[in-house]
Amino acid sequence: MTKQAEQILQTYFGYQTFRAGQKQTIDHISERHNTLAVMPTGGGKSLCYQIPGMALDGTAIIISPLISLMKDQVDALQALGIPATYINSSLTPGEQQTRLNDIKSGKYKFVYAAPERFESSSFMSVMKRIPISLIAFDEAHCISQWGHDFRPSYRSIIPNLSQLPDIPVTVALTATATTDVISDIQGLLDIQNDHIVKTGFERANLSFHVVKGKDKPTYIRSFMAEHRDESGIIYTATRKQADALCEQLRKRGFSAAKYHAGLSENERKEAQTAFIHDEKTVMVATNAFGMGIDKSNVRFIIHYAMPMSIESYYQEAGRAGRDGEHSDCILLFSPQDVQLQKFLIEQSFMDEGSKQNEYRKLQAMMNYCHTHGCLTSSILAYFNDKEAASKSSCGHCSNCLNRQNRVDITEEAQMILSCVKRMDERFGVSMTAKVLKGSKSSRIQQFGLHRLSTYGLLSAYTEKEITERIQFLVAEKWLATADGKFPTLKLNQNAADVLKGKETVWMYTTPIPASEPEDYQK
Ligand code: ADP
Repeated sequence: MTKQAEQILQTYFGYQTFRAGQKQTIDHISERHNTLAVMPTGGGKSLCYQIPGMALDGTAIIISPLISLMKDQVDALQALGIPATYINSSLTPGEQQTRLNDIKSGKYKFVYAAPERFESSSFMSVMKRIPISLIAFDEAHCISQWGHDFRPSYRSIIPNLSQLPDIPVTVALTATATTDVISDIQGLLDIQNDHIVKTGFERANLSFHVVKGKDKPTYIRSFMAEHRDESGIIYTATRKQADALCEQLRKRGFSAAKYHAGLSENERKEAQTAFIHDEKTVMVATNAFGMGIDKSNVRFIIHYAMPMSIESYYQEAGRAGRDGEHSDCILLFSPQDVQLQKFLIEQSFMDEGSKQNEYRKLQAMMNYCHTHGCLTSSILAYFNDKEAASKSSCGHCSNCLNRQNRVDITEEAQMILSCVKRMDERFGVSMTAKVLKGSKSSRIQQFGLHRLSTYGLLSAYTEKEITERIQFLVAEKWLATADGKFPTLKLNQNAADVLKGKETVWMYTTPIPASEPEDYQK
């Protein structure tokens, strides 16, 4: 199908060459192998099923988690003259029936459907009667309970699909590449190792920054003043934050829109259109915004608070720079962000196992915020992109840009590690910092920790400085943590080597955030 695929790419989509992974995915599908394509956001996953869908006989069914996403995809295909439709709860029963009739008569090459549709008997009866070319699971990580956006309805499709007489081939597409998620998808959709197409995850045009200890609204105003005409998204952790920040920016004369699940559908639609058409330059939003938004010139993504996992972070940050131009992804960190995320995990209805998994992901996200190594490499290592991660320095993240002040902290590290040992590895960062500081806190007395030989060993430092060093040791894997809500510190092999004096621990001074121009008060 290679020749035909190239022809479709050029004549219908107007692109000359395939991007990494596209051709391979299309080849597997045309050979009727169930396939998993793992590519970063903006990597071009849609064409991987759209081209075979056009080349093969029958109708391609695309399962998609978001209504807005379906409509955009369908509009885009229709604009290219390709017969496509979607069917979901936003349509009236009458419209649904008309579309079902048209689907039955073979009018469409592509039908986008929400997972819940497969529970509807009228939809299933049409599915059973039409020739299907392929089934595509868009945002396939939603099928996995290890994914960052698990949707039970995605999983319950599988028994329903088995009622269909003939599914020639299934393709799953996702930007989440953790091993757990991949093997879950593989098992559920019967995908062999040879049919996983995984492109490199590096987005070389994105520069990552972690900013700590700054007043966030001031930082944002200052940044925006420097990037006044550039399009960007600011992700907040809550709707309230989005409302407040958007208001503040508007008062300062910035062109800001807002988007979150508390707004009406109309308000959201308006905000989204204004942003996409560059009538508003900045979008202040919760994570409700963005999935499926194809805006190429987003120059910056600022996270007003730390997200819950690196998967979510990379997906949201990845919405910058789809046009390949240089863009910035900035995470504004404060310790309260961690508390908020822990609260959200506790409040959720997840079972204990899933909660532990969320805590593990949260710890990885925190490590990203506290590492002094290259931020790009740290993300790529998380996604097991070993080749890219092994380049130890991207040269343009906030940590790589701040390599001047390297300090040998081996001695302090040894003090911290031996304190963890003396505390029998039963306490977390905060208590350990208190012991090293020599705090008079009643909890220290209560546990008799003031009697340890390491009590007050780092009293020359502030508790905050000690905390930072401990978090740094965890992030750099000189020290481990147990999983869970209260991650106790644990010694590992690296810690043993540091204690024996076999390793030197280097630390860089805190990354310097972007400069604050004087005119930001405007
Ligand atoms: P993803 O789903 O992986 O986030 P999309 O499928 O939305 O990415 O594609 C992102 C952008 O890249 C779209 O604007 C798409 O038209 C464009 N694109 C996809 N494949 C190619 C290609 N081979 N050459 C040029 N542009 C492409």
